[in-house]
Amino acid sequence: MNILPCGRSAEDVALKLDEPADVHELQCQWCHAERQRLKDQNSFITHLLESSTPQHEPQAVSDSVLGKISQLIPRQKLWDVQDASTGAHTRLSSLDIVKAIRRVFAEATTIQLNYTEIKATDTGAPHRQWNVQCWISMAEETSVPVIEKEVLDLVREAITPLFAWNEVVVDLVVEDLHGRPIESVTLREEG
Ligand SMILES: [Zn+2]
Repeated sequence: MNILPCGRSAEDVALKLDEPADVHELQCQWCHAERQRLKDQNSFITHLLESSTPQHEPQAVSDSVLGKISQLIPRQKLWDVQDASTGAHTRLSSLDIVKAIRRVFAEATTIQLNYTEIKATDTGAPHRQWNVQCWISMAEETSVPVIEKEVLDLVREAITPLFAWNEVVVDLVVEDLHGRPIESVTLREEG
């Protein structure tokens, strides 16, 4: 993963390209530059697609366009899970789960979720043990112990409707306004 000097990844910027910049991105020169670079790449690809015509080496053009697009779109891992409501085996992409986590964190007033990723840590199919990494900023009036409990609650609230789980470990990094880590802790929750 391509990590920017501020601690966020290029993938994180890419995934949010269609959304407005968040507080961190507005203030961060690295995220701003990465966002601009990706937007320039996108418009270059759009231009290539528009200018490619059937009689003008269509295969070569589409190969190079597809090659560029596949570099841009982060590969999404699919996870075998047991659907929480039906009990059926199904598959979810990392992005599906990350989006659910982001939706839940968006409701929080004292926490800003800067970056998150999730992966299963067991070999089971369906998976029941998960590791979630959360990079967050927190409001000044709150405290790290309060935030720790809140982060665990939010992660549980996000994943419980999606799939059955036995254990989730949250690696939490609390960042200051400039994206510098000020606290990092590992939290564990039994399902
Ligand atoms: Zn940044």
